[in-house]
Amino acid sequence: MANYAMTGGATGIGAELKRQLLERGHQVISVDIKEGDILADLSTAQGRQAAVDGIRAMAPDGLDGFIPCAGLPPVAKPLSLIAQVNYFAVVATIEGLRDLIAKKRGSVLLVASNSAPMITTDDAFVQLCLAGDEDGACAEIENRDGHTAYAGSKRAVTVWMRRNVVAYAAAGVRMNAVAPGITQTPLAEQVLADKEFGAAMKEFGKMVPWGGTAQPAQIANVMRFMLSDEADFVCGSIFFVDGGSDAMLRTDDF
Ligand code: NAD
Repeated sequence: MANYAMTGGATGIGAELKRQLLERGHQVISVDIKEGDILADLSTAQGRQAAVDGIRAMAPDGLDGFIPCAGLPPVAKPLSLIAQVNYFAVVATIEGLRDLIAKKRGSVLLVASNSAPMITTDDAFVQLCLAGDEDGACAEIENRDGHTAYAGSKRAVTVWMRRNVVAYAAAGVRMNAVAPGITQTPLAEQVLADKEFGAAMKEFGKMVPWGGTAQPAQIANVMRFMLSDEADFVCGSIFFVDGGSDAMLRTDDF
């Protein structure tokens, strides 16, 4: 039986992963703004600290895995909230729990997106995220658009993960990311219902090579594997679970 902690366990992909892990007899500590073992608003520094302190109090002997799954869609407003939750909270919670995860040679599984490659690493917003400049990133993104905020935040967490894989492995933490395609969750419903983004998302869904959109279980199944001992040589990987859309868009790049 393993001991996991996660954020964003109240709904969607996180709720399904939590359900699957609990069903298999694992322990799961869930942090969320809506409901969970620890209630915290991860857009704030205080909320992130409350999350880290709460997890530490509940798992003093260490964690087998940590999944920072909480995220906001491109339609969230203000756009700075997307930077705060999708990037800065992810990095702050991983850093705050690193030694606790290392205690059990555990793993971190970030939740990126198939949209992450759509923004380049040299984008000004991504660069400010990677520099750890939260005020600068929040100011920059207010003058941009929801797609850049969302895909850019996912690009940034993915690059942050790749840059930190070696140091974390040396410390005893295996890090990976899952990159889901469109998945039927409250987040996707908000985007589909949006005047600006809805039509484009529906069109994109029709182009997915393996067909349409995913159920949360199709993402959680892969996440559960990546967290398990069966995947204990998987380190630094970005696992696209997107029905082939990344291969369709970036055929020659990997
Ligand atoms: P969701 O809206 O069902 O779940 C997001 C969770 O994050 C919710 O439980 C919510 O309460 C929590 N959350 C939001 N803001 C928070 C805050 N400030 N503090 C604490 N918790 C907060 O959405 P989902 O689709 O299950 O998303 C899970 C992850 O998957 C996200 O990181 C998302 O970006 C990513 N993702 C989703 C899709 C998709 O199509 N659904 C595709 C790619 C990646």
